[in-house]
Amino acid sequence: AYEVARQFLFEEAGEGTSDRTLSYGVSTQAWSRLWQICVPPKVKVLIWRVLLNILPTRERLRSKGIQGDVGVCGLCGAREETLHHVLLDCSFTALIWQNSPLQTEWRDHDTRDLNGWLEHILMGGDRHKTELLFMLIWNLWNERNTVVWTAKRRSPCEVVDGAVRLLQEFKEHQPTMLQPLSRAQAKWQKPPLGAIKINVDGALHVQTGSGGGGIMARDSAGCFVAARACRFSHVSSLEHAEILALRAAILFSHDLGPGPKIIEGDAQGVIQTVQTAHEDRSILSFLFSDCKFLLSQLENTSIQFAFREANRVAHRLARLAITLPGTLTWLQDPPDAVCDVLVEDIL
Ligand SMILES: [Zn+2]
Repeated sequence: AYEVARQFLFEEAGEGTSDRTLSYGVSTQAWSRLWQICVPPKVKVLIWRVLLNILPTRERLRSKGIQGDVGVCGLCGAREETLHHVLLDCSFTALIWQNSPLQTEWRDHDTRDLNGWLEHILMGGDRHKTELLFMLIWNLWNERNTVVWTAKRRSPCEVVDGAVRLLQEFKEHQPTMLQPLSRAQAKWQKPPLGAIKINVDGALHVQTGSGGGGIMARDSAGCFVAARACRFSHVSSLEHAEILALRAAILFSHDLGPGPKIIEGDAQGVIQTVQTAHEDRSILSFLFSDCKFLLSQLENTSIQFAFREANRVAHRLARLAITLPGTLTWLQDPPDAVCDVLVEDIL
């Protein structure tokens, strides 16, 4: 380890940039920023290892003479697995970035130099985006390990959803770190006057392959308009349940007539995919295309992401839906199971 460190120092000194000399490729300011970012410690440690280029990529293992697989990328199987490739060039990684809320923003800076790119992001100032990006990198590396060691694969949307959920869960348990603004965003918001908001969520019972979709429509006063709970069978993943639920919500929006409607869900990856023109290549692509088509037929229906805390009614209805024999619709009174949350949402 001493030899490696010495080599680093030597190389950096050779470049002659004074603020970089003692800090392994990024400025000391960037290092201190890293420890201030509000992500789980394991994520910070991973970024720290990325900056030091000490992650055991296949290229690195090979260069150190450790026998193993040929140095091919675990995610795409097409290129040599360098850190730069996994985080920036890999075709799988490109799908992660495209399906994430960051979309193409990560490209704003020159990406030829991995550390320079990360330093640019750390110093860029937008903490929320930095947090999400680091979370995505952690999930990406995790996915790479899962593929390498167990050969199990997730779709890009599932990896993005996983990152978003982990970050949310982490923040839920960090009350002192939450800004008032994100608290406000996390609460259910009434739609504008005259509009109806339709909250939707999907749920999965893994053992039986049963999925549930929960849909709740409320007006601009926060009052109950209608609700639906749908049970889906042969559901393969949570993402599958989420897209089925979203499709059901779009159809429900159609049933509610022509007025302006906002569909809101917390499955960020799924919503992002339906919102963008980008062609989804997962096994669920036909469902995504169907949602896009149905949505394009509804003039007055838009779709948006909300934090999980703002989507509690739909979440509970989705759990309930798993236990149903089919689809249930409520038009007169809201389902008993969600009355408490309906009230809490407008307090
Ligand atoms: Zn690759």
